[in-house]
Amino acid sequence: MAGHFLLSKDARDFTVEGVERMSEREVHKFFVESRWGKDGVQICPGCGTIDNHYWVKTRRQWRCKDIACGRSFSVTSDTKFADHKLPLKKLLKAFVIFANNVKGISASALARTIGVAYQTAFVLLHKLRESIMECSNKDQLDGLVHIDGAYVSGRIRKPRVKKKATETQHRDKKPQWQSSKHPNQRVVMVLREVDPEGNKGSIRTIVHVVRAEDSRTAEELAKIYIKRDAKVMTDEAPAYSSLIERYDHLTVNHSKEFSTDDGVSNNQAESFFARMRRMVIGQVHRVTPKYMLDYVTEVAWREDVRRTPTSRQVGMLANAASRSTSKWWRGYWQMKKRPEEILFVPTGSPPKPAAVSR
Ligand SMILES: [Zn+2]
Repeated sequence: MAGHFLLSKDARDFTVEGVERMSEREVHKFFVESRWGKDGVQICPGCGTIDNHYWVKTRRQWRCKDIACGRSFSVTSDTKFADHKLPLKKLLKAFVIFANNVKGISASALARTIGVAYQTAFVLLHKLRESIMECSNKDQLDGLVHIDGAYVSGRIRKPRVKKKATETQHRDKKPQWQSSKHPNQRVVMVLREVDPEGNKGSIRTIVHVVRAEDSRTAEELAKIYIKRDAKVMTDEAPAYSSLIERYDHLTVNHSKEFSTDDGVSNNQAESFFARMRRMVIGQVHRVTPKYMLDYVTEVAWREDVRRTPTSRQVGMLANAASRSTSKWWRGYWQMKKRPEEILFVPTGSPPKPAAVSR
């Protein structure tokens, strides 16, 4: 029986139990190889010299062979976890737990699982999201692409007395009772390249947070991220009607069907939103505009690596985290917070009032 990919051996090839059995040396080696590869050389973060630098065993650090530089550095120097106080083993456990919780893990659950303060777990998870955001592949999508948008956040509380008891509303659409726009309301736009064979689902996902699902936004996103003449499938929302000028554009009428007899659908975009909603409902509970892109990029990454063996996923996380220091999360609890939300704004749009942040 062909099982689900999460039931395969590949999905069990790196476990918390496995990390527990690793020696300090093996854990160190894992971080070293994730950062610099298996060639036994290191890149000095001070001067960039690639060499087998002097290993100072007692300090678990290297000293740069370039005499003018002479810098001492460890495996986490100048990485997202440069100032970490956690033992490497605990850090690796956190990476494995992050990878294995395919719908995301909350900071409080991670804190309780590995025995760290909530604040530590919160920053650790956000540093992983930052690493993923920096490394996400933004090359143009090609072949078959599904696009859609979904409203997230900024819901106005429902009136205490219902106007119409039977009123039902699809959760990705704007609630009908919501006449005025809440300042925190955003749209998550997703563009997904779909496996041409049709049996592996989506191959690569690009997400953005935008103000509105309108034609200017859709056109510009498509222009940047989709190769000309690719096949694009969307629902019949007016935002997508002009895509026909650049693409082989096909639509599905969602009031009638989820896919047409000819196989036109945007099901891979819908599937992304289903995962995203489950993460929000189950872990995050509330997403404000400020960190919305961080969370949805995590969902996109999880979707894209869903068939990748866990050990590779953890290696990817360790590598992504090693590429630079954290811009946003050093000193978060000392009130050094990222000032702005990250929003995709089509060129020529008038500036809008800022979101209500906390
Ligand atoms: Zn150096």
